[in-house]
Amino acid sequence: VSSVEATTAHLERIRAVDGEIHAFLHVNEAALEAAADIDRRRAAGEKLGPVAGVPLAIKDVLVTTDMPSTSGSRILEGYMSPFDATVVANARAAGLIPLGKTNMDEFAMGSSTEHSAYGPTHNPWHLDRVPGGSGGGSAAAVAAFEAPLALGSDTGGSIRQPAHMTGTVGVKPTYGGVSRYGAIALASSLDQVGPVTRTVLDAGLLHDVIAGHDVRDSTSLVEAWPSFADAAREGARGDVLKGLRVGVVRELPEAGFQPGVASSFRNALNKLEQLGAEIVEVSAPHFEHGVAAYYLILPAEASSNLAKFDSVRFGMRVDVPGGTVEDVMAATRDAGFGDEVKRRIILGTYALSAGYYDAYYGSAQKVRTLIQQDFDAAFSSVDVIATPTAPTTAFRLGEQLEDPLQMYLNDVATIPANLAGIPGISIPSGLAEEDGLPVGIQFLAPAREDARLYRVGAAME
Ligand code: GLN
Repeated sequence: VSSVEATTAHLERIRAVDGEIHAFLHVNEAALEAAADIDRRRAAGEKLGPVAGVPLAIKDVLVTTDMPSTSGSRILEGYMSPFDATVVANARAAGLIPLGKTNMDEFAMGSSTEHSAYGPTHNPWHLDRVPGGSGGGSAAAVAAFEAPLALGSDTGGSIRQPAHMTGTVGVKPTYGGVSRYGAIALASSLDQVGPVTRTVLDAGLLHDVIAGHDVRDSTSLVEAWPSFADAAREGARGDVLKGLRVGVVRELPEAGFQPGVASSFRNALNKLEQLGAEIVEVSAPHFEHGVAAYYLILPAEASSNLAKFDSVRFGMRVDVPGGTVEDVMAATRDAGFGDEVKRRIILGTYALSAGYYDAYYGSAQKVRTLIQQDFDAAFSSVDVIATPTAPTTAFRLGEQLEDPLQMYLNDVATIPANLAGIPGISIPSGLAEEDGLPVGIQFLAPAREDARLYRVGAAME
């Protein structure tokens, strides 16, 4: 198929189903022109890469010059960036066709996409269920065949947990593996951009496009990454699971997981064993404290990152006749930020205030170090760690909205990887018997060993 045909088909699909799903905040009117350009260049004999001409959905946390970038927030309504995020620039250079911007929890805070200022996204598997979050738009778009590939961002699970809830593949790369330049920052020490796709190979192809050093991101690794697509092909071919040591975390008890999630996980472990892997229990005693540490570190960093939305430099401004600069700022932030964002700014500001800093932020950083040490110890005896990606299948819209703590616990299994900076992948592991909804299994590997996840993931698919 030509790029114009592929792009047309996806735009038609969006027109047909997105009224119900609401995966997109913005559809790119110029997508067909970009597709026609790729077709012309290919016809002229230009040598283009493997993904040239393929449509791509982009989470609205990533800034783009030709489409608004809102990060799901009212305060950035209609905001046009003067530059492209590096991953977007890389995607365009590889010939990917931006289809549009996808819905998300405001500033990527949430696990259901219900915190979007522009209304929730619905799970294509069941429209009264959430698609997970914060990247529910990207995951739903891919699951509903509105886009073959999507970009997401994962600070505590926002790529992997929606992948789990929509039956898609999601990868959080090693911290520093993908540029964060132009990704509207939530928590800078945790954020990573990564792929959301329907197959492990597709994720590898997209990861190959976005990986690499970026002089504009001081935390980006100077690393010659292997081809993740090749790693996926290698995994699909063969016997990479033979002799593979798969760790299961003792301190992540099955009790907290929905029965169908736990049994899907057990089945996946059995399959791994049948394919020659060895299941080994590992101890990660601080794993379960990840959520607590995360909800101090994240609000602290977020409160600082969101200070730039001051009614002057970016986005909306609420006029206060006769008011001071401070009045304008307060009125703007009051009208522009949603409840969850305000909750976290208050939490973060409190945790960072003089006199409390050591007790809260300092302690959380210590727990973070202990989690990193747990992983180091575990990876001295296993090649990968496996967990269910999230405790439950897609829940009903509204079900957890009034209960922030319940919402936070969605990420109990995904957050530790962000705290430790290690890579993680979620791949579908079947449907839960009680509700027929998708379940994902997560694999974690040591930092810089992202390719291992593609080998294992493709072998399991
Ligand atoms: N659900 C988590 C949160 O609300 C994760 C968010 C993310 O990864 N961006 O913080």
